[in-house]
Amino acid sequence: MGLLRVEGLAKNFGAIRAVDIISFEVRAGEIYGLLGPNGAGKTTTISMISGLLKPDAGEVFVGGARFGSDPQQAKRHMGVVPQDLALYEELTGRENLEFWGRLAGLSAVEAKRRATELLEALALTERARDAVKTYSGGMKRRINLGCALLHRPPLLLLDEPTVGIDPQGRANILEFIGRLRTGGTGILYTTHYLEEAESLCHRIGIIDHGRLLAEGTLKELQERLGGDRVFVLEADFKDTSPEAWDGFHERFRVLQKSECQLVVAALGSRDPSACLKDLLNLPVRIANVMVKRPSLNDVFLQLTGRDLRE
Ligand code: ATP
Repeated sequence: MGLLRVEGLAKNFGAIRAVDIISFEVRAGEIYGLLGPNGAGKTTTISMISGLLKPDAGEVFVGGARFGSDPQQAKRHMGVVPQDLALYEELTGRENLEFWGRLAGLSAVEAKRRATELLEALALTERARDAVKTYSGGMKRRINLGCALLHRPPLLLLDEPTVGIDPQGRANILEFIGRLRTGGTGILYTTHYLEEAESLCHRIGIIDHGRLLAEGTLKELQERLGGDRVFVLEADFKDTSPEAWDGFHERFRVLQKSECQLVVAALGSRDPSACLKDLLNLPVRIANVMVKRPSLNDVFLQLTGRDLRE
């Protein structure tokens, strides 16, 4: 049984179908990545799971219980880190943490003790007494994350927690999240960064226009492409097209095509050298061929025909 189960969740804003009937599950000790471009419906999904937005349809189960039947209990099970910082700039880092601890129902003594632990874990002890307004963007993101964790929730919802911070700050946050996961926390992680989804998440759901298009481990998603290799061909494709090449579609799937580049995945489990031979025999003068492992971007391309990279 998943720690979090989302069943047929949907939300419209007027004519916009922000979330269009999605279902998935987050288990204890896993990081589930919801990957999709801006406007895909990630924030709307998180807002419905955390009780901030009322779904038009669908159900959310937290720890096996229907959210609606006991929202307070559900909230005790989860920590929510919104994309927009929810911090009091004039207060110190420690004061922010203690404040959220008290809101989560901790006693003053507990809140203090827990704030000390979190400041240490987030490498912010030295700045604990400074007002948050003097923090760097990455430090604010870390305190924001800490504020959701005072009550040790088994489930953590993170909405793009590394947006707009430098690589060092990002590495700090990712390392911290990894440690939480090892401790058994189940994490729902939304992102539009392919690399984060690839390196951090155990399972990934690809979301676009409010729909979950595919779901699985990175390996499972790569296998959807039909193989573990992608070929990038460079040539002049202005006057020729794969449709005109005899037998091509039986052996390859086109992922992306432009006037000078063609990205294809081999179908079946053929030897890469046999695939290369086929490609070099195409009725077009190939200037260059590159072989690579399929990335999540290739998977996204195949599913949507668009590039996820900005
Ligand atoms: P981002 O990464 O940019 O936050 P997202 O994947 O989180 O994107 P959402 O914020 O969930 O996407 O938005 C999904 C769609 O719903 C978008 O088309 C957005 O414009 C629309 N939308 C979201 N909130 C509202 C609202 N309060 N009123 C009207 N439309 C909304």
